[in-house]
Amino acid sequence: MRLNLARTIPRSAANGPGERFVLWVQGCPLACPGCWNPDTWAFERRDLRSVDELAACILATDGIEGVTFTGGEPFAQARALTLLAERVRAAGLSVFVFTGYDLAELTRPDHLALLAVADVVVAGRYVEAERATGLVWRGSANQRVHFLSDRYGPIDMKEPGEVEFHIEKDGTLTVTGFPPAEMLPDREVSSP
Ligand code: SF4
Repeated sequence: MRLNLARTIPRSAANGPGERFVLWVQGCPLACPGCWNPDTWAFERRDLRSVDELAACILATDGIEGVTFTGGEPFAQARALTLLAERVRAAGLSVFVFTGYDLAELTRPDHLALLAVADVVVAGRYVEAERATGLVWRGSANQRVHFLSDRYGPIDMKEPGEVEFHIEKDGTLTVTGFPPAEMLPDREVSSP
């Protein structure tokens, strides 16, 4: 089975506990106004990678704590991500998922299967009017952090406002994380 990805970063400390291999999936049906990754909305072929290939790549990355699925909308590719999550979890890695859906909306069997192998899910639409800085792992105040296994808890939530800049060999720049207020465009933000 294959995944359609927008991009990956093999090591990030801004997308969940510890250092994590991050996958941005391609395709999101939710179209939140103000989304920071609109290039990931289209359900068009971008970077097709097999679960086997990705699992090997992740498991060959030294010293990471786990994987993070973001996007795009991970639950739009729930079956393939569940297979990948099972593989990395069997090797002792953790699974962290960002989704635009609220947990109560994730009721299909393929959704439930992915939830069953996730340690943490950050859930909810990005709402521009509720945009906030100072919230760990969230961009707007309506979003919720759900600890679905006993691997982590609120004590593992790090300092807010972490942001990273990754420059690839071909010069591509990826900005990821949750920038502090002073790095954001001049728009109103909520306090945590
Ligand atoms: S769910 Fe995420 S990727 Fe999809 S539109 Fe909303 S913020 Fe963007």
